[in-house]
Amino acid sequence: MLTMVGYCWLCHQTLKYRFHGICRYCLKHLPYLRQVCHHCALPIEQLTLTCGRCLQTPPYWHNLVAITPYIPPLSKLIQQYKFKKIPQIAFILARLFLLYWQQGYRQQRWRKPDIIIAIPLHHGKHWQRGFNQASLMATQLAYWLGCQYQINSITRTRATLPQTQLSAKKRIQNLSNAFRIKKTFQDCHIAVLDDVITTGTTMNEVAKLLISAGANSVQAWAICRTL
Ligand SMILES: [Zn+2]
Ligand SMILES: [Zn+2]
Repeated sequence: MLTMVGYCWLCHQTLKYRFHGICRYCLKHLPYLRQVCHHCALPIEQLTLTCGRCLQTPPYWHNLVAITPYIPPLSKLIQQYKFKKIPQIAFILARLFLLYWQQGYRQQRWRKPDIIIAIPLHHGKHWQRGFNQASLMATQLAYWLGCQYQINSITRTRATLPQTQLSAKKRIQNLSNAFRIKKTFQDCHIAVLDDVITTGTTMNEVAKLLISAGANSVQAWAICRTL
């Protein structure tokens, strides 16, 4: 298995703190999402907080927090993590997310959740991949932030088609009744983590279920956001 202990995963230079995984230079020069709608994290022309799409059809989540668009270098790191099955990268990605999230938290752009949940994989896919990419990161983030991590509180009841190949209407049909909630979330603030948010339909479906199960607010968390 490929390991990069002591070297930056992005530029391959020696690290000052080997457990960081990414050097300070690469961290500083990530293509961070800037000037985006605070609901959906898509670019907006003017520095208003909410874009026209979200004003018209607000998502069920309160904030979407993603570090960068789904482009290199993080898109490559996510692919390495998922498809070459390198679970150590979960720690690196979770740390990048933590640093980015903390910045917004200090600026009061979002609140600290009570509970962190990972977008569930269908058990067939979980078995195929051997791990749930979001759940490893969510566990680590919950530990660092002192939140509860709830595994299996939401399950995927059936396999679904990849959302990117479908029209907006088909995406919603594809996901109808695809998730089941096993408990109530009365008055809880929840963060739901996925590795990449593409159309947002899956995240919105889960956020809708959580709100209907009593959640006070839902934050959509992802490493990358497809623009
Ligand atoms: Zn580097
Ligand atoms: Zn928006």
